[in-house]
Amino acid sequence: MTDWTRLSAAALAEKLAAGEVTSVEVTQAHLDRIAAVDGAVHAFLHVSAEQALATAADVDARRAAGEELHPLAGVPIAVKDVVVTKGLPTTAGSKILEGWVPPYDATLVERIKAAGLPILGKTNMDEFAMGSSTEHSAYGNTHNPWDLDRIPGGSGGGSAAAVAAYEAPLAIGTDTGGSIRQPGAVTGTVGVKPTYGSVSRYGLIAMASSLDQAGPVTRTVLDSALLHELIGGHDPLDSTSIPEPLPALVAAARQGADGDLTGVRVGVIRELQGEGYQPGVLARFTESLALLERAGAEIVEVSCPHFEYALGAYYLIMPSEASSNLAKFDGMRFGLRVVPEDNPTAERVMSATRGQGFGDEVKRRVILGTYALSAGYYDAYYGSAQKVRTLIQRDFEAAFAQADVLVSPTAPTTAFKLGEKLDDPLAMYLNDVATIPANLAGVPGLSVPNGLSDDGLPVGFQVLAPAKADDRLYRVGAALEALLEQEWGGPLLAQAPELEETR
Ligand code: GLN
Repeated sequence: MTDWTRLSAAALAEKLAAGEVTSVEVTQAHLDRIAAVDGAVHAFLHVSAEQALATAADVDARRAAGEELHPLAGVPIAVKDVVVTKGLPTTAGSKILEGWVPPYDATLVERIKAAGLPILGKTNMDEFAMGSSTEHSAYGNTHNPWDLDRIPGGSGGGSAAAVAAYEAPLAIGTDTGGSIRQPGAVTGTVGVKPTYGSVSRYGLIAMASSLDQAGPVTRTVLDSALLHELIGGHDPLDSTSIPEPLPALVAAARQGADGDLTGVRVGVIRELQGEGYQPGVLARFTESLALLERAGAEIVEVSCPHFEYALGAYYLIMPSEASSNLAKFDGMRFGLRVVPEDNPTAERVMSATRGQGFGDEVKRRVILGTYALSAGYYDAYYGSAQKVRTLIQRDFEAAFAQADVLVSPTAPTTAFKLGEKLDDPLAMYLNDVATIPANLAGVPGLSVPNGLSDDGLPVGFQVLAPAKADDRLYRVGAALEALLEQEWGGPLLAQAPELEETR
């Protein structure tokens, strides 16, 4: 009997179109898998079995009636809990939103629903997407399917773990500084942060509005391209949405899969390797470069001297924007309200609600952001960070004059142990050294699994492209994936230990 949870979304779509399986069967198989392994993985905060099966039955009926459907119709998906879903609880991993059920759908959710993808549920995440390990969730840890004692990355650890554990073939993530790509790297999955403005932010609970971007989390590069085309494109409800159509992403992924990169210039970013990177991560990176070269790519070295300051600039800009975005969680409008017993004035209710509703990392960043934006310090901190941001954008422009895509390891290390970095915020922040520059410049990035480090854990390879040239990510990513899978004789995830199924 075919195990439908092991197929890629593209393969499932084919089987569904050919009538070899129904969406109800595929959706039920994933719900069964969730029931069997999510006790151990804890990728989901909420499973919407009934709603998913209803969507699946509807798609099956429409298909049977001969209706023309979206290519991914009937393929189930999981959605990060920072994305609002009408009628489904949405917490952003925070206690302050416990019990909140949004009255509307994010644009990307509307598109998913219109295309007929059953939504399996909402995935765990660091509170308000602040973190690199999902340990800052108010609802407990998510565990890495490769080793349950380790972090699944963050903030989108739930989406990555769900896909890696075959609980969902597709998931939605959001990436403000790396939260799609870094979880992808440490779980052996594919993750893409699209060009800023290419996927609507309408209905994402904003962390840092100038950096946030939603994107696909999948097991193959082609699946990411299919999902990106579905959720992307102009949205009048998002004032920063790019008006022109997306480039042809699926076509680029299919072209890349033939493994020919003749004429493609690949720029290796000198500053994103060496010190601080695990030897096994660097070894896999060098081997992948050799593969790309054999595929016909021209490898050049580029320098981005200001990337050194990216982390510093990010940790001023991001908290500044977050402190403003999170001001609306005041106990008056959404979710939790804590009323102190004596003298419950509005101000004291707000203060008690925020005091109890937010976790330590959120408080740390709200305090930092409020400070950086305060009169007298604004120019010194926020203003300087914005200048650094411009310098990083110029580094990218200069580098893209020499290369079609830029590459680096996605994350400096493999998945660390749960608890290992929890008391050391700076060590946690360092996970994103290689991913943050793309957010500061608005350029797209993809992480594709490129092997196991010496510790037997997965490593990711990052590809970056100029804004609006997301198609290049898919071409290069798919080529590398195809070449690596030839070597491995199948996907990297096939080398992950089997999770014990308990029912
Ligand atoms: N880890 C980074 C942070 O903590 C990035 C988070 C994200 O991309 N949402 O801010």
